[in-house]
Amino acid sequence: MAVTVTAYPRRSTKLDDGAELWNWAGNATLARSSAVTSPATEDELRAAVTTGPGRVRLAGSRMSAGRMLKLAAEGDRLVDTSRLRGLLGTGPDSATFAGGTSLQEVYDVLTPMGRALPSSPGVIASQTLAGALATGTHGQGLSQGSLADAALSIRMVLADGSVQEFDRAHPSFPAAQLGLGVLGAVSAVTLRTVPSLVYSCHKDAVSADDLGTKLTSWNRENALSKAWWFPDENLVHVWTAQEAAPAEQLAYRAGGSALLERAETSDAMNRTIDRTLTNMRGDTQILDAAGKPYRTVNRFKDFSDVTGDVYQVFCRGIATPQINVEIAVPLHRVDEVVAVLKAWHARTNPHMHYPVILRCTGPSSAWLSPAFEQETCWFGFVVYYAEDGSLSEGGMDFLRAVEEVLADEGGRPHWGKYFEAPLYDWAARYPRWEDFRRVREQLDPQHRFANAFTDALFD
Ligand SMILES: Cc1cc2nc3c(=O)[nH]c(=O)nc-3n(C[C@H](O)[C@H](O)[C@H](O)COP(=O)(O)OP(=O)(O)OC[C@H]3O[C@@H](n4cnc5c(N)ncnc54)[C@H](O)[C@@H]3O)c2cc1C
Repeated sequence: MAVTVTAYPRRSTKLDDGAELWNWAGNATLARSSAVTSPATEDELRAAVTTGPGRVRLAGSRMSAGRMLKLAAEGDRLVDTSRLRGLLGTGPDSATFAGGTSLQEVYDVLTPMGRALPSSPGVIASQTLAGALATGTHGQGLSQGSLADAALSIRMVLADGSVQEFDRAHPSFPAAQLGLGVLGAVSAVTLRTVPSLVYSCHKDAVSADDLGTKLTSWNRENALSKAWWFPDENLVHVWTAQEAAPAEQLAYRAGGSALLERAETSDAMNRTIDRTLTNMRGDTQILDAAGKPYRTVNRFKDFSDVTGDVYQVFCRGIATPQINVEIAVPLHRVDEVVAVLKAWHARTNPHMHYPVILRCTGPSSAWLSPAFEQETCWFGFVVYYAEDGSLSEGGMDFLRAVEEVLADEGGRPHWGKYFEAPLYDWAARYPRWEDFRRVREQLDPQHRFANAFTDALFD
C-alpha cells in the first residue's frame, strides 16, 4: 500500500528561544508560548478550558508525536498540565492523583506505602498520568492491561466547564479511560493499588527459533516478561520475572531494598550488542561511547539476574530522542505474525538500527485500546536521532516497511507513538469506534478539544 509519509520529522538542534513550545523529542513546535496556559488548580483548569472561542489541547510531558498536541489555528490554546500535580488522597486500595502528576511521582508516593499499581510500568516514568491514560501507555504482563486499566475513576473538566466523574459503573468509562485528549481535561485519576511485590528476574539469551511459541510460554508461565529480538542474529534476550522466594526477599531487604544484582554474569549477548552498537554508531554519528542511545543496549552486555520491585526491574529506560513505533497484534496470532516478520526479514534484509522490543499485556477495557478485550503482543521499534537532528535513512525505511507488514496483519498502533494513519481504517479495526464517537459528541459537541490530527481521525 502506498503511504503518504508525514510522521518522521527532523529534530531541531537550535537553542530554544522560548518563543515556542516544542514536544519532548524536539521534532515539532506545538504552540507559540503566548498560547500556552498552565493552570495549578481545577478551577484554573476550568477557566483555561472555557475562556476564549478557540480550540484547546491538553499537554502532559509532551512525549507523544507532535501532531497529537499541535495547535491548528490562531486563537487555539495549549493547556500545560505540569502544575496540576500531586497526591490528592488515598484509600486502603486506591490513591487519587492530579492528572498532570508524573508517573515517577505516582510510583515514588506509592512505594514507601508498600503499594504499587496493578499495571506494571513502561520503560520510563516521565509521562504524566493523564497523558499515559489518554494514549494507552502500558508495560508488560498478561495479568494486566494498560495503566488506564488501573483507573477506578477519572475526573474531567468538560468543554462547557462542568466537572464530571467517570467511575467504572459509568457507561462512558471505557471511552474516558483512553480518550486521546478529545473528551475533556482530566483533572484527577483514582487508581487501584495493590501490595508492592518483590520480583526475581531471570535473564537469558536464546535462539529465536519458535519465537511465537516461546513468547506465549514466557508470558503464561511468569508474572512479567519482556524480550528483545535481534533478527539478524536469530537471537532473543529475554527477561522473565516471578515473585521472589523468601530468602531472596530477605537478601533484597538486607540490602536496603535497592536493586540486587547477582554477581554471576553472562556474556551471551556481548557479540550481538557489539554489532548493534556498530549499526547505531553509523546511524547516529554520536561519538561519545557512553551516549544515551548506546547505553540502552550496552546494559545487555554481561547481564545478570536481579531482584527488585516492579519499578526497579522494569522501569529502567533511558529516555533519549527517538522515533518509536509500536504495533499491537492479538496474542493468539503471535506465531503467525512472527513467521510473517521472519519471512519479510529474510526476503528484504532490512537495516536493523535496534532490536524489536516484545511485550505482552492482558486485555484492556478501554474502547480505543489496541489491546481492547484481548491478550495482546506489542512489537516495538525504535530509531534514535543522530547528533545533528537527522534520522538514518535505513532506520526510517525499516520503520515504514515493518509498520506496513504489521498493519497488513491487522495490527493496531500505539496512540502515543508514531504511526502512518493512512494505513488504518479505524472504524474497521476498533469495534467500539462509533460508540467512542457518540460519547465524544455528548461530551464535546463543538469539538473544542481538537486539532488537525484529531479532526482527521474522527471527523
Ligand atoms: C522515551 C519514551 C519511552 C516510552 N515508553 C513507553 C512505554 O514503555 N510504554 C508505553 O506504552 N508507551 C511508552 N511511551 C509512549 C508515552 O507513554 C506516550 O506518548 C504518553 O502519552 C506520554 O505521556 P505525556 O504525559 O507525555 O502525554 P502528552 O504527549 O503530553 O499527551 C498525550 C495525549 O494525552 C492527552 N492529555 C495529556 N494530558 C491530558 C489531560 N490532563 N487531560 C486530557 N488529555 C490529556 C494529550 O492531549 C494527548 O492527546 C514512550 C515514549 C517515549 C518518548
